[in-house]
Amino acid sequence: MKLSNYVNGQWNEGNGPGETLIDPVTGDELVRISSQGVDLEVALAFARTQGGPALRQLAYAQRAEMLAKIADALAANRDEYFRLSLLNLGANQADASFDVDGAIYTMKYYAKIGRALAEGKMLKEGAVIPLSKGNAFVGQHFLMPTKGAAVFINAFNFPAWGLCEKAAPALLSGVPIVVKPASPTAWLTHRMVEDIVKADILPPGAISIICGSARDLLGHVREEDIVSFTGSGDTAARIRSHANVLRRFVRLNIEADSINSAILGPDCTPGTDLFDLLVKEVVREMTLKAGQKCTTIRRVLVPRQQLKAFGDAVTARLSSMTVGNPRNPEVKVGPVVNKAQQSSCLEGLSKLKEECEVLFGGDKNFQPIDADPQKSAFVQPALLSCTNGLGAKYIHDVEVFGPVATLVAYDGLEDLIAITRRGLGSLVASVFSDDASFTRETVLGIGDLHGRVLVVDSTVGNQHTGHGNEVPSCLHGGPGRAGGGEELAGLRALLLYHRRFVVQGPADCITELSGLCVDTAPLHS
Ligand code: NAP
Repeated sequence: MKLSNYVNGQWNEGNGPGETLIDPVTGDELVRISSQGVDLEVALAFARTQGGPALRQLAYAQRAEMLAKIADALAANRDEYFRLSLLNLGANQADASFDVDGAIYTMKYYAKIGRALAEGKMLKEGAVIPLSKGNAFVGQHFLMPTKGAAVFINAFNFPAWGLCEKAAPALLSGVPIVVKPASPTAWLTHRMVEDIVKADILPPGAISIICGSARDLLGHVREEDIVSFTGSGDTAARIRSHANVLRRFVRLNIEADSINSAILGPDCTPGTDLFDLLVKEVVREMTLKAGQKCTTIRRVLVPRQQLKAFGDAVTARLSSMTVGNPRNPEVKVGPVVNKAQQSSCLEGLSKLKEECEVLFGGDKNFQPIDADPQKSAFVQPALLSCTNGLGAKYIHDVEVFGPVATLVAYDGLEDLIAITRRGLGSLVASVFSDDASFTRETVLGIGDLHGRVLVVDSTVGNQHTGHGNEVPSCLHGGPGRAGGGEELAGLRALLLYHRRFVVQGPADCITELSGLCVDTAPLHS
């Protein structure tokens, strides 16, 4: 079976044999995809000229109702999404839930907060600015939904959530979406788009999907469009430097790779609740989705005197995490997404081994349960330890996108901050400590290079939202090597799909325009 592309309000099968999607456990061929022959220039124009105007005829609150219907349509097909996640990603129930339930929850969340925007067609920002003595001439800042298309180029690891976390704020803003899922796992995104189209919720042109290569897509984006990319730093650099993107100053949002950290405070000695809590969190992060989350903990910074105890505790837990075919109920950890990712993980791991001691796993010849190592794409979870954090290179540079983490010893606050900052910009760092002054100084030392800092002390205990979980009410994104993008954070996400402008004019004109607007105060609550 070949999956069709949905462009110009129609399903179109791409030409040629296309690419084959595979089951990473059995190596079986599943479906094929191809974008060959699809006129991407026409597809983008259709989204801009048909989908956009139809969406923007509606008020924010009406579009929020559409999101609620989309969430219902997706929830009705949840079982099928779990089935496809198992087939195409080797995802067990927990892995699939993280992606699929996260997607549906995010859609519902935006439906809910979108209703607060009532009947407005544009957003108003800040107060009227006096520009003349009698206030006859004033200024007002507005945010208008862009009249272009939102182009999503997504990563393989979140085919469901990656679609919804971008689609919800774009559609709520009144901007049509064109999604290009990563080829290896495009099936699930395709099925979700198919269900949304079947449910007949959106006007023609409001949603399109291209399965297969992006081909010349970026050659046709324009000044009004937005490209929202999630993927590796290398691809991000290619997209950022694309001639047409540069020439037309196309707005870009980049979510790239990230070497995230978790920090054990000096007060968290073995036997304390926080020590145990971080041990659990590290193992959860390494094994959930086989470590294929952009937010996964890659470096665990541990006071030097606790390095051995912490390593022993993580190793003890890891050794009970059975790895293999997720169809076997005993299995806790699934495969990475394909052979190419397996090779990339093993290559990265061998670099890390040059400067680290192996505490557990990482054996490239290990035997997964109920799977043929020749056909499947498993990586044995690996825990490494590095005693010279500032002298090391790869642990800060190489993102092994699999079940691999490195413990890094630190000596005091200054050393800790310097080591953490070597990530050069990350999505998230976690601090586990009951020492309020240590936590404060750590946050002050690393905040500018992180999109999110998770702080856990004994008053929070296990009620925290999780190192790797992106909650839609809070910011997702990170500076520097993490790409510099910003997503989610409640209604702030709408800013990406709006353009700020100021009108300087007669007070009456401003009053009339303001009457069409929703105040953006709720954006910043
Ligand atoms: P990738 O290889 O960079 O691919 C990402 C997307 O870019 C895919 O849809 C890919 O399409 C497309 N692409 C590749 N070359 C392109 C080009 N020249 N023009 C336009 N599009 C192009 O990344 P991946 O392997 O799918 O994902 C893993 C990476 O994503 C990891 O590094 C992870 O850290 C990162 N990630 C980051 C976040 C975040 O929010 N920061 C979230 C998830 C993942 P094809 O598949 O068709 O090649």
